[in-house]
Amino acid sequence: MRCHALVALLEHPVAGFLLFDTGYSQRRMQEAIRQFPYRLYRHAAPFFTTPDESAAAQISHRFGFAARAVRTVILSHFHPDHLSGLGDFPQARVVASREAYAAIADRRGVSALARGFLPDLLPSGFTDQADLLPSGFTGKPLPHLGPTHDLLGDGLLRLVYLPGHAHGQIGLLAATHSGPVFFVADAAYTRRSIRENRPPHRVTNLFTEGEDRVAETLRRLHDFARERPDVVLVPTHCPEAFEELVNGK
Ligand SMILES: [Zn+2]
Ligand SMILES: [Zn+2]
Repeated sequence: MRCHALVALLEHPVAGFLLFDTGYSQRRMQEAIRQFPYRLYRHAAPFFTTPDESAAAQISHRFGFAARAVRTVILSHFHPDHLSGLGDFPQARVVASREAYAAIADRRGVSALARGFLPDLLPSGFTDQADLLPSGFTGKPLPHLGPTHDLLGDGLLRLVYLPGHAHGQIGLLAATHSGPVFFVADAAYTRRSIRENRPPHRVTNLFTEGEDRVAETLRRLHDFARERPDVVLVPTHCPEAFEELVNGK
């Protein structure tokens, strides 16, 4: 199926603008897949995007300010559809999990591709920008999902581990003016998958930690969603979430 790759722009009263994931950048993707074996990625996960759809371009033409105003980027995991826009935010602090980074950092060629990682998408200054989080969080737990990491210490932005789809994947529960919104990245592709506790088709496990771990996190999310029906769930690629939150239907 064809789907969007959502990013979230958040404005915090003290920390300013934050971005959750960075979506596709057409130019950076084309550069990253020029060589073999990386060009195989295009066949595994074809993408269709235009230059004005990059997060940086949309921030400027939809909201009227420059990408450099974004002070923090939270990366859920390092797959190209979440990472490729990162190069447009060289001034930002990048928050990611140490485990997610360690799973891809030294990989090149086929071994990188097996993790869904395109090395050229990682900015050269990444290690200076990055604030890598420990593999176990110790903050207030979420029902069924375990401990969180309170990013700014005020309880407004809480990160939680959602492993399985990718090593050390993290999601973000944000307390917004319109209520709690939970960006679950690729822990599920659709809200329906969470509602019905129905894992994705096997073919999508090509780059994952394995179907058992994918199913385990999905079950936890399903239980969480039942207990917290007030929380708006946003899987990155969910058409229903796109229609509701971006198109306003
Ligand atoms: Zn992914
Ligand atoms: Zn994705």
